[in-house]
Amino acid sequence: MNQPVTLIGLGPMGQAMVHALLDAGHPVTVWNRTASRADEVVARGAVRAAGPAEAVAAAELVVLSLTDYAAMHAILDQVDVTGKVIVNLSSDSPEVTREAAKWAGQRGARFLTGGVMVPAPMVGTEASYVYYSGPREVFDVHEKTLAVIGAPHHMGTDPGLAQLFYQANLDVFLTALSAFLHGSALLGSAGVPAKDFAPWAAQVLQLVIQFLPQSAEQVDADEHPGDLSTVTMMGATADHVLAASREAGIDLDLPRAIKAHYDRTIAAGKGGDNWTRLIDGIRNPG
Ligand code: NDP
Repeated sequence: MNQPVTLIGLGPMGQAMVHALLDAGHPVTVWNRTASRADEVVARGAVRAAGPAEAVAAAELVVLSLTDYAAMHAILDQVDVTGKVIVNLSSDSPEVTREAAKWAGQRGARFLTGGVMVPAPMVGTEASYVYYSGPREVFDVHEKTLAVIGAPHHMGTDPGLAQLFYQANLDVFLTALSAFLHGSALLGSAGVPAKDFAPWAAQVLQLVIQFLPQSAEQVDADEHPGDLSTVTMMGATADHVLAASREAGIDLDLPRAIKAHYDRTIAAGKGGDNWTRLIDGIRNPG
């Protein structure tokens, strides 16, 4: 028989996970604070628990898909979780996550943190992947079941690490999306539609991808030999982006933030280094 799973939290993500688990033949018990959100998955074969305690009792593997970790405590603080494996796929800060792992350990449960890297419609598809952190042996035992939600990647034993990977990726994702909108607004000030910009922006993103391996090597080695893309040269460009934004009358916060990285590094006397030297001021903004 496939491993039984309890899933608590039936927002879009939790519901998609239940569908994927049912499709893969797992018996699934569900509970959600707003009971009606379970109706659809119950109609498909999930079992509705009367409350959190009943849900937790139904399976060793308890998956949580909640708004944040405060929701987990609101639901489970009064529930016996002894012997359970709690897999929390909710987003929160790494420190909150580490505290939660201790909390679970004190109650006799084992704990894995997870960060799902795709939106609900992609959960359970080949494109879905999830960062996990926590005890490796616990991950190994449950990897096959967790793979139903998305390709599972164990990033390390520190419970905060899955959150950090999730946040670092969203750091890149959200910043790139805002940069695309900012560029669109800049060109829009001259009447150029965003659809004409999109293919060019895609080319730039390809260039960014090409930059990454060598940039990572320089950051890790803490060696930033200046070549074509020095801090001074790139900083002048950042200045021009800011000036163009000012002329266009659009938001200045984003280009100001970028220019600040360059100004700080030049002020530190590192203008001749490669642009990766910006990492110093990002790590220690002073
Ligand atoms: P929702 O906010 O839609 O759902 C959250 C769930 O948490 C609901 O079931 C809600 O119950 C429950 N909940 C919140 N607070 C409490 C509480 N105090 N007590 C009991 N239950 C509570 O979230 P999503 O499904 O969109 O996302 C779940 C997690 O997955 C989040 O951490 C999110 O950051 C992450 N994520 C989301 C993605 C997305 O595209 N949506 C993509 C990747 C990750 P109720 O129904 O009663 O309100």
